[in-house]
Amino acid sequence: MNIVLMGLPGAGKGTQAEQLVEKYAIPHISTGDMFRAAIKEGTELGLQAKAFMDEGKLVPDEVTIGIVRERLAQADCEKGFLLDGFPRTVPQAEALDSILEELGRPVEHTINIEVEKDELVARLSGRRICKTCGASYHLIFNPPAEEGKCDKDGGELYTRADDNPETVENRLTVNMNQAQPLLDFYEAKGVLTNIDGQQDIDKVFADLDALLQGSRS
Ligand SMILES: [Zn+2]
Repeated sequence: MNIVLMGLPGAGKGTQAEQLVEKYAIPHISTGDMFRAAIKEGTELGLQAKAFMDEGKLVPDEVTIGIVRERLAQADCEKGFLLDGFPRTVPQAEALDSILEELGRPVEHTINIEVEKDELVARLSGRRICKTCGASYHLIFNPPAEEGKCDKDGGELYTRADDNPETVENRLTVNMNQAQPLLDFYEAKGVLTNIDGQQDIDKVFADLDALLQGSRS
């Protein structure tokens, strides 16, 4: 059960990843967690990564890939793993292929949770904050009883600059442009499965589950 899970911010990748690793009892491997663990354990590569991060620089691919190789070689990945947030680029995807070939643990599922841009913008820009008490709402996921007013104190709700739809859309465009070559890479290899992420969260999980169950023998 070796899985690479992809999805843009707002697609619900984190939520689905949590449920999948729980159901299939496989480790959830995200780049952030891998970095933190390697730094904590003080591995050679962890220290190298830390040096770059301390200088506010991007960790170079060779270090990131080395950390991924060490993580995937660990015993808990024998029954499978879910990679989340890696690979991000085509060179990383190619490196991943050769690491997994070395380890004899090829990726079985490359999954992209697909959500249209407009829907992502709505999800990512829906947060509203109360001017009076700071309570947080979301137009889709946690709307106030009365539009524009706080449930607790009737305070006026406002949108933070970060949540401005144009700001969100610009950020998303950058993410989409980064993700596209990777999706094209897996599509061309014929291993990409798109899952409709615009459905209800439970239905998205059911689709993922069916896909994974179907491959079990
Ligand atoms: Zn309030």
